[in-house]
Amino acid sequence: MNYVSTRDSSLKITAAEAIARGLSPDGGLFVPEALPRVSVETLRSLGRMSYARRAAAIMGLFLEDYSAEELKEYTEAAYSEERFGAAPAPLHKADETTAYLELWHGPTCAFKDMALQVMPHLLRAALVKTGETKQVCILVATSGDTGKAALEGFRDVEGTKIFVFYPSDGVSDVQKLQMRTQQGKNVGVCAVRGNFDDAQSGVKAIFGDKDMLRKLAEAGYFFSSANSINWGRLLPQVVYYFSAYCDAVEQGMVPFGEKINFCVPTGNFGDILAGWIAKKCGLPVDKLICASNTNKVLTDFFRTGAYDRMRPFHTTMSPSMDILISSNLERLLYMATEDDRQVKAWMEALGEKGSYSVPESLLRTLQTDFACGWCSEENTRREIGARYAEGYLIDTHTAVASRVLADYRAETGDRKCAVVLSTASPYKFCDHVLSAIGSEAKGSGTQLIDTLSQLTGTPVPRPLAGLDKREVRFDQVVEKTEMPNAVLGMLGIG
Ligand SMILES: *Cc1c(COP(=O)(O)O)cnc(C)c1O
Repeated sequence: MNYVSTRDSSLKITAAEAIARGLSPDGGLFVPEALPRVSVETLRSLGRMSYARRAAAIMGLFLEDYSAEELKEYTEAAYSEERFGAAPAPLHKADETTAYLELWHGPTCAFKDMALQVMPHLLRAALVKTGETKQVCILVATSGDTGKAALEGFRDVEGTKIFVFYPSDGVSDVQKLQMRTQQGKNVGVCAVRGNFDDAQSGVKAIFGDKDMLRKLAEAGYFFSSANSINWGRLLPQVVYYFSAYCDAVEQGMVPFGEKINFCVPTGNFGDILAGWIAKKCGLPVDKLICASNTNKVLTDFFRTGAYDRMRPFHTTMSPSMDILISSNLERLLYMATEDDRQVKAWMEALGEKGSYSVPESLLRTLQTDFACGWCSEENTRREIGARYAEGYLIDTHTAVASRVLADYRAETGDRKCAVVLSTASPYKFCDHVLSAIGSEAKGSGTQLIDTLSQLTGTPVPRPLAGLDKREVRFDQVVEKTEMPNAVLGMLGIG
């Protein structure tokens, strides 16, 4: 199976090349030229497998240049009991037709671990397969969770360096401290003044900066990305949609073969796109419900066909969804139209005037797969309170999706079995979660960890215990324009 760029489909490369490069030189993203079909027999057989084996089986369909043995080794190392506990992606059944897919049992307590624990294995192998002799320098722009998960995934991985930029305002206290205290010899962390889009566009600019690329090459490095623009980040996320479906069948929530809905708290559109890919491969899915917070650019897009980022940016209590440029939408547009020139034109319009519109016919097609909705700050708080009153504690991002699902059901009458993707541990957002469940506790995010545990009787996740006692290793803050120099400084060149 070959991969093509969303902006130039004549550019065909292997899976390993797509993973090694991250972003296409024309600015496009890599996508499979055609999607594999998962047969009913394969789907049935997944039900009897461990998560690691499910992952090896699904990823193998997309990665023809990786052997089954390689994938088995990588997935077993990534989804080990030591890293994820007994079950990497358990399904919490809330009622007969609603379940929460808990994707935060990994080393950083957010769903990004699901991909970032396995991606470094895929990338290292990709470098060998493509004959790359330079070392890879991973640059990440993070809205909070990706950065920490990437740092953990790549920490002390030979032949790699990793640098993470996070927006100085717009990540939680716990997230900030998780990154500033990161261990490892090959890691760097730096705050950027501004919001996530500033950090992300800064990183994208570095990837396209010829002078930077030359300096790096001279020092024996090349850039790659661990953001969900990298196919190696996106693919492992396809797996848990299959896994959740098998578990929903196993738990008697749906008869095998019947369709279910997924409701996904969305930011960069990577997570929900993985669900759409699963559907297009044959997973019985009806609607993918795209849930946004007050930065509801995607809700407006799926309702009107107009994508318009020229709007006020809101800093919310679900910071990983505070995004106005959802990069992975480009992949959906290409895969739905297979029109690289059109996609290129839309993306240029987005860059130049901040908006574009898709034709009515395409919008209708997308609406058969996607529903959408958004949730205010007040309703996010209420949703956490309401679910907690029923005995289940959820974080701010999961709450957005949980509420959007309730609204969707009320609006449409669609009562199909639905899975809400639970993307972070409530312990990453203690302050908001505590206030939502009616506590008046004050203090910094890290002190509140113990308070939340005592009040709710739930255990502190192991990776967050004792966070405030760790040494801060990274406290640099730069302007967006200084990001290239920060990278060179961290690499000790230029
Ligand atoms: C990253 C993230 C999201 C959004 O996922 P996308 O793939 O960017 O759409 C939602 N919730 C949490 C907790 C996240 O870390």
